[in-house]
Amino acid sequence: MNDTTSTVSRCDATTCRFNSDMKCEAGQIEVSLSGQQAQCLTFSPADDAQGQRPVAQQ
Ligand code: SF4
Repeated sequence: MNDTTSTVSRCDATTCRFNSDMKCEAGQIEVSLSGQQAQCLTFSPADDAQGQRPVAQQ
């Protein structure tokens, strides 16, 4: 099995530049688990969202 690429099947973060039609197109991502929530550390706002960066949620 090849585990070197992202296995994200669906992502709701549509403001992320790597999100294409609810799918992650980043080669690899880093995820932080906090309780039952997973936060993507690879998230990067799309160009058209510059100046409107979402506030990180904890
Ligand atoms: S990098 Fe993270 S936030 Fe962006 S589309 Fe992929 S999984 Fe979602």
